[in-house]
Amino acid sequence: MCLFCSIVNGEIPSNKILENDDFIAFHDINPKAPIHILIIPKIHFDSLQTVNPEIMAKMTPFIQEVAKLVGVDKTGYRVISNVGEDGGQEVKHLHIHLLGGTKLHFGHFHDADPKNNL
Ligand code: AMP
Repeated sequence: MCLFCSIVNGEIPSNKILENDDFIAFHDINPKAPIHILIIPKIHFDSLQTVNPEIMAKMTPFIQEVAKLVGVDKTGYRVISNVGEDGGQEVKHLHIHLLGGTKLHFGHFHDADPKNNL
């Protein structure tokens, strides 16, 4: 069973922030920033690459609401969705990382020289 499907059906506990019929937002178990929330659709999609666009359209206001709830809507935040092997996706259930609570840098991209990929 997919890890995040188990969170959706309550088999695995999560520190939930917000939930509606379509989505759940919960704290990342291994936060990379003072605020690190994961937002997932309740229906399983492997990643952003295969998600139904209607779900993504509904997800936008949900993300905005989460940002307000955790108090970063004015200070700013970053959303990331890792896709597949090169994207570093570990959990194969679409999730959006919402990171904030500090000035974020792109430090983890320093090891990749974009010129090598041209
Ligand atoms: P990704 O590398 O984009 O697939 O991110 C997966 C994220 O899920 C990582 O940031 C993990 O820390 C997080 N994670 C894994 N298991 C759990 C869990 N049980 N509850 C909350 N977050 C989790």
